[in-house]
Amino acid sequence: MQKMNPEMPQVSKCSITQCAYNVGQGCRAKAITIGDSETPACDTHLPSSTHTRQTTRIAGVGACKVAHCKYNDDFECSADSIAVGFAGSDAHCLTFAQRKSAAA
Ligand code: SF4
Ligand code: SF4
Repeated sequence: MQKMNPEMPQVSKCSITQCAYNVGQGCRAKAITIGDSETPACDTHLPSSTHTRQTTRIAGVGACKVAHCKYNDDFECSADSIAVGFAGSDAHCLTFAQRKSAAA
């Protein structure tokens, strides 16, 4: 297997403890995907009572589809790190910030 080592923003914290990838309020996936074209929801969120055996790995943001976030550059996240938590009942990127219109 050829392995990759891409640089990715870290998921510094995630409070969605019901997710299979969450251990100790940290995301232990290798990488997550954020969003659809509108909302910055965590697309990797997997509600489960069983959790990954990983306990120390810190996930990266592999891709983000929210082009109207000011941190989004070419459909990738350019923030140093992000936090994920509840927005209503959904798991959202809490670092999301609306991009200002160039015409404003
Ligand atoms: S960031 Fe997403 S995939 Fe990772 S633990 Fe939180 S909800 Fe789950
Ligand atoms: S900060 Fe913005 S670009 Fe980065 S993952 Fe969150 S919504 Fe996507």
